Amino acid sequence: MKRLLSKATQALRQWHGPLTEDLVLQPGRFGLGQVPARLAPDGTATTVCGFCSTGCGLTAHLRNGEAINLSPATDYPVNLGMACPKGWEALAPLRAPDRATAPLRRTAHGEFEPISWEDAIGALVENFKRIQQQHGPDSLAWLGTGQITCEELGFLGALAKFGMGIRHGDGNTRQCMATAVTAYKESFGFDAPPYTYADFEQSDVVVLVGSNLCIAHPILWQRIMRNTHRPEILVVDPRKTETAMAATQHYPLKPKSDLVLLYGVANILITQGWIDRGYVENHTNGFEVFAQFVASFTPRIVGEATGLSIEQLQRFAATIHRGERVSFWWTMGVNQGHEATRTAQAIINLALMTGNLGRPGTGANSITGQCNAMGSRLFSNTTNLLGGHDFCNPAHREKVARVLGLASSCIPQSNSWAYDQIVQGIADDKIKGLWIVGTNSAHSWIDQDQFSALLGKLEFLVVQDMYASTETARRAHLVLPAAGWGEKEGTFINSERRFGHVRKVARAPGQALADFHIFQLIAQVWGCSDMFARWDSPEGVFNLLKELTRAQPCDITGIGNYAHLDRAGGVQWPFPDTRPASTRLVGETESHVGLQTERRLFEDGRFYHPDGRAKFIFGPPRPLPEIPDGQFPLLLLTGRGTSAQWHTGSRTEKSDVLRKLRPANLYIEINPSDAAALLIQPGDEVRVTSRRGTITAAAFITRIIQAGQVFIPMHYSATNKLTLAVFDPYSRQPAYKACAVRVQKAQ
Ligand code: SF4
Repeated sequence: MKRLLSKATQALRQWHGPLTEDLVLQPGRFGLGQVPARLAPDGTATTVCGFCSTGCGLTAHLRNGEAINLSPATDYPVNLGMACPKGWEALAPLRAPDRATAPLRRTAHGEFEPISWEDAIGALVENFKRIQQQHGPDSLAWLGTGQITCEELGFLGALAKFGMGIRHGDGNTRQCMATAVTAYKESFGFDAPPYTYADFEQSDVVVLVGSNLCIAHPILWQRIMRNTHRPEILVVDPRKTETAMAATQHYPLKPKSDLVLLYGVANILITQGWIDRGYVENHTNGFEVFAQFVASFTPRIVGEATGLSIEQLQRFAATIHRGERVSFWWTMGVNQGHEATRTAQAIINLALMTGNLGRPGTGANSITGQCNAMGSRLFSNTTNLLGGHDFCNPAHREKVARVLGLASSCIPQSNSWAYDQIVQGIADDKIKGLWIVGTNSAHSWIDQDQFSALLGKLEFLVVQDMYASTETARRAHLVLPAAGWGEKEGTFINSERRFGHVRKVARAPGQALADFHIFQLIAQVWGCSDMFARWDSPEGVFNLLKELTRAQPCDITGIGNYAHLDRAGGVQWPFPDTRPASTRLVGETESHVGLQTERRLFEDGRFYHPDGRAKFIFGPPRPLPEIPDGQFPLLLLTGRGTSAQWHTGSRTEKSDVLRKLRPANLYIEINPSDAAALLIQPGDEVRVTSRRGTITAAAFITRIIQAGQVFIPMHYSATNKLTLAVFDPYSRQPAYKACAVRVQKAQ
């Protein structure tokens, strides 16, 4: 161990300058070498935003090599000169006074003490190896994130699984996109969102299911606003959200009756003969059985289940029928449900049966959440083996081992536990050590008090984060201070499959290190650095990731390097190096490869199943897991609050500007009729109780929410004290969107 620690120290000096005790906890004294490498002649550098999956290009304005301000990049093909408040304020979280600037170890008195990196990595390795020896190799797990780069995700997953023998790891992307992943894999044969953002501008009918685009993806809403075809905009949402208010048709259905609605619409389309027979026959399997299945979803039955009128259902179907280019979009209102995968596939089925795939302005399109959730889907090495491969496939294991120069025996032959199974593993005393990287689980995981209690059972909890102040880091035995977005280099993949180059435009404070370098240190001290000798720089790892995608649907072997991404404004997958000349744009030459800005999938009608056909997949709807009753008579919905807030607020709460753009305190939306019955006035403090716990909130009385329902934004730390730990059975994604509560005026 001593020899390995000494090697680690050498590496630290190489990346981080001299290490002396008096430098500890002095932010800004030393950084990670030069920033940044490639600048425009005007001294700016274009990078990709580190909040949401839209993946906007941001121009960093530099002084002495460091960013002093940001503005939306005018020539980036994603955002076209626009940015939401989070993008404008993305530097503020880097400058927060509560940044973790040194490794912290919990003392016997329960306080944190700063320690050296050598001691920190030594403590991690010593404790994790002890736990593995005492409790077996599967007694450790990790929880990752969609907020670090592809290169870091790949490194974390490879180090943990191949180097450290930690088989069980998952990401916070389980909380947002696992449903879309499962739905696409089963329906299309690969996790493949088919669209390009230009489709927002080219549709004549835009159907948004469970998506408050105005708030959650405001720049994508701006892309709809650029649509010159006067599109019909249909919003399916129980709440009259900002997006629903701007829509041409709002369908305020009962919560979680979306699967029944979609089957009912499919039935009307079939009975009216409004389907694309040619597309169905040439490109799909399973339609006839699906048609028989949905025949029982008559307008009357669907109307009763959804609360919508028969006229509304017929108008919905007729609008789809009239559209020449219909695009279907969904986000968390679908993904975070108890029957989410089948609901997502019901949307896919509508696109398939009407031939709305592979053409401009069409698609069955899942919009992702986090800035690199799509990178996590391909490269986190959790549910997929690196590069969209399969752990259970021997040929895939051999390929990955060959590309990485490893023995295939180090690759697990089975899938990891999912997030909820890891949590259950803690409850069952199977998981004893946990490594949490870049996510605030103690705030965001469902049924928060139960999760928080389980953290207390762990023998060793390591949290690697920008801040030691998050709800999760405060519970850790060891905190590893991480550089944030803007303080390191790598790539993100946005919702439309676009790889974008993330630049280093700021120095990390104190001793904070890029996650990439933390993984290098751990590899050295663990004793597996030989396996990662080629993982020496982010761009070097990018080249490995590229090679891993060869011959996969997500093949990006045609991307040259980071400079290529800069020139092209990002590149969407697939982009193989064997791309035939016929797929290039007129006038495109080798040196311009990738400079076209938009590309969609399935233009040839071929999907990724062995027979090239998409599948109709369906199943019977199931009742809500927790139905309101006399004791808990209201249904709680959760979701995003404002475009100024991001998830648990770890970063957005650091910005004075963003804090001014959202309500300061937790609030609950209550319909006027419910408020009157409960004698609640606007602004009253109320107690909200579920079977899991009680919180207080300020009453916001509004018709945005229907009678019998209430809404609380997800960003406030108390919200998940109420939610119910129920999961979609196929994607294992938590169902955050509906549970029964009681609301009372506080005394
Ligand atoms: Fe664009 Fe999303 Fe960043 Fe806002 S948070 S600037 S919408 S990428």
